[in-house]
Amino acid sequence: MGNRTLAIIKPDAVKNNLIGQIIKEITSAGFKIKAMKMVRLNKDSAGGFYEVHKERPFYNSLVEFMTSGPCVPIALEKDNAVAEFRKLIGATDPAEAAEGTIRKMFAQSKSENVVHGSDSDENAAIEISHFFSRKELLENYQ
Ligand code: GDP
Repeated sequence: MGNRTLAIIKPDAVKNNLIGQIIKEITSAGFKIKAMKMVRLNKDSAGGFYEVHKERPFYNSLVEFMTSGPCVPIALEKDNAVAEFRKLIGATDPAEAAEGTIRKMFAQSKSENVVHGSDSDENAAIEISHFFSRKELLENYQ
């Protein structure tokens, strides 16, 4: 099991001033922040990031949402990071998310659900490299 995952604080959370509260939940759960930045995705970048969902009916609205304002990608480290982080954020739909999870606490809907978390070690590596250069990671992962 890997020890890295990629989180994104999504545009809805940035807009609603939730960056601080969400980072507090993440670090309180024992994750270490290895790299972080605030970026505004364009269509190509958001579309590429969610390439796996290209055939899904919600793909266009997902890309529109993810380009609607700045977001905060964060490379995180913890033992068993992918599974631990998905447990911390809860189900995709906040209505189905467990009590105490980030989506249950802060998300408004299944589409605007405040955070992203990688779903496998392989995707975590791909997604981290989508946002952070080798140099940024080397400096932070020593
Ligand atoms: P995740 O791994 O929990 O983020 O969920 P998925 O990989 O299934 O979906 C990726 C993202 O697409 C979700 O986090 C939502 O932002 C969005 N999404 C999922 N289902 C829907 C949907 O039915 N409608 C819309 N508009 N967006 C959705």
